Amino acid sequence: MKIASFNDFRVGVVDGTDLYDMTGALPEFLAELPRQRVNWLVANWARVQARFAQYRETGAPLPLANVTLLAANPAPQHVFAAPANYRKHIGELGDRAVTKAGRTAREQGFFLKAPGSLVGAGGALLLPKGSDRRFDHESELAVIVAKEARNVPRERAMEYVFGYSCLIDATMRIEKGVAEEERSMRKSFESFTPLGPWIVTADEVPSPGTLANRLWVNGELKQSANTSEMIVGIGELVELVSSVLTLQPGDVIATGTPEGVGPFAPGDEVRIEIEGVGAMTLPVRECEVRSPRPY
Ligand code: MN
Repeated sequence: MKIASFNDFRVGVVDGTDLYDMTGALPEFLAELPRQRVNWLVANWARVQARFAQYRETGAPLPLANVTLLAANPAPQHVFAAPANYRKHIGELGDRAVTKAGRTAREQGFFLKAPGSLVGAGGALLLPKGSDRRFDHESELAVIVAKEARNVPRERAMEYVFGYSCLIDATMRIEKGVAEEERSMRKSFESFTPLGPWIVTADEVPSPGTLANRLWVNGELKQSANTSEMIVGIGELVELVSSVLTLQPGDVIATGTPEGVGPFAPGDEVRIEIEGVGAMTLPVRECEVRSPRPY
């Protein structure tokens, strides 16, 4: 099933070019907490899955083209991200790399992106107005966590996976000796984490470890790899993060980017496609307001 968040935080099921509005199948109280609908849905999936499976009977179909897709989960408690998780990406940033000596996600662990940086397939990548810094795309498979997870061994990790989305880990690069802001801030500008176009439930992605992961800028293929090239696989990532703290239903784990990372600029269009998950294209624009602090 493809579960999407749209318009004013409504929830629907996507089937072909239609989206079936299933917001009415959720408890009334969520109208007071609309951003929490997807978290609640994930946490209570066992109870509502059967109703959602009948979306054709109970949901109102809308043309997908007529809705605004929001971040696949608009309000996860955490957005974790793996650095250095594809061998050929390690080293390609040269002086702009945070970590030396080719250390991978296995040694580095994870970093955090602010959940407030999420945006959906109907949004845009917004760069700081007037900036001459380098902003990069990173094409990543996102894992959506199914339930609370603490100290989960990798052998059991897939029981804790609800589904998958495409994720662009947009990044303001370091300029060594000039500008070396903290990674969490460089990757957390508003809109710097496109997540979507929906969540595909795990039952529809039998082999998440062998998916094509591709990204284009203005129609030109920039990144093309396969999730089989990940150094730390999904199971080990769940083990790693859950060894530090408790994962929550709806949490997002960005699994890292392959080689081909490069810049984008206002006026560009960035397209990500993960095989068996989906694709989305976002325009790149500048923020309307110039920041009081230069970036
Ligand atoms: Mn990344």
